[in-house]
Amino acid sequence: GGGVSVYDSELDAQVRDRARLATDVRELLTAGEQRRDREVVLHYQPQLDVASGRVVGVEALVRWQHPERGLLPPLVFLGLVEEQGLMEALTVHVLRRAVREAAGWSHAGAPLRVSVNLSASSLAHPDLLPVVDGVLAAGGLAPGRLVLEVTETTLMADPDRALAVARALTRRGVQLSIDDYGTGYSSLAYLTDLPATELKLDRAFTARVLAEPRTAQIVEATVALAHRLGLRVVAEGVEDEDTRAVLGGLDVDESQGYLHSRPLPPQDFTRWLAARPDPAQVVGAEPREV
Ligand code: C2E
Ligand code: MG
Ligand code: MG
Ligand code: MG
Repeated sequence: GGGVSVYDSELDAQVRDRARLATDVRELLTAGEQRRDREVVLHYQPQLDVASGRVVGVEALVRWQHPERGLLPPLVFLGLVEEQGLMEALTVHVLRRAVREAAGWSHAGAPLRVSVNLSASSLAHPDLLPVVDGVLAAGGLAPGRLVLEVTETTLMADPDRALAVARALTRRGVQLSIDDYGTGYSSLAYLTDLPATELKLDRAFTARVLAEPRTAQIVEATVALAHRLGLRVVAEGVEDEDTRAVLGGLDVDESQGYLHSRPLPPQDFTRWLAARPDPAQVVGAEPREV
């Protein structure tokens, strides 16, 4: 008897807590711009060209600076945003903010690309294209510097729609990236139809590439195929130098992960960026991470 009631009350508390957070999410995304600007913030993680060590892009990753709960990671609140049909409001905010904050960033004389994650509902939303046009015009970002990341699962939710939107984005010069590649079940035939420019190898591959020769072979074959299709390959979740070196040997183009930097708030990121030398200017330096 007693055990069951304790379990029940804990479950109750969890359900109540989730309901409270859902209410907070609703208020946050239906309230005015000011509250959104204060609480929905972006952290940025660099992407480095493996061969040269140059920083070539950043991924914008959303966080919620909750007034009582502190900084919340996306996995805590994205589900609640989606359930309440508020993803589009969040996406518009994130796109605007990412373009505004990152438009001026460059390394070694070249402007950085800015990657933003899109959920299935955002990709399918009829307002996506006008929103992207508006955000690019207002933020002064060349379309080619914007990368929209979608997962295989997102693409497969409505493949025809995804294909149409992808083509419309590409006509504008905006880039499309296939995120978490290898975790889904998409058919390669479908992916060849998709006008993507980038493939992000899922962290699960990155984590195993050193220890498992089979994984290294799969990565090598995937990279070769991606290159044949004209896609650049970014490895996510790179945490150590040995892994980066092995990935470079397998012809992976770019590296992203804690090895280089955790995702950082914009001011910290610009400081990190300013402290990085231009690899071409470092006499005798190997393009390796410290
Ligand atoms: P993702 O797009 O695959 O982003 C990579 C995640 O891996 C990020 O988690 C990042 O902090 C984490 N990460 C980066 N480097 C390393 C590493 O070296 N080791 C490990 N263990 N992890 C690393 P985060 O920021 O918690 O984001 C989780 C997911 O939430 C993202 O996965 C993305 O799917 C989603 N997300 C983030 N921001 C947005 C957004 O603005 N809109 C939408 N719709 N989804 C977003
Ligand atoms: Mg991503
Ligand atoms: Mg990813
Ligand atoms: Mg991932």
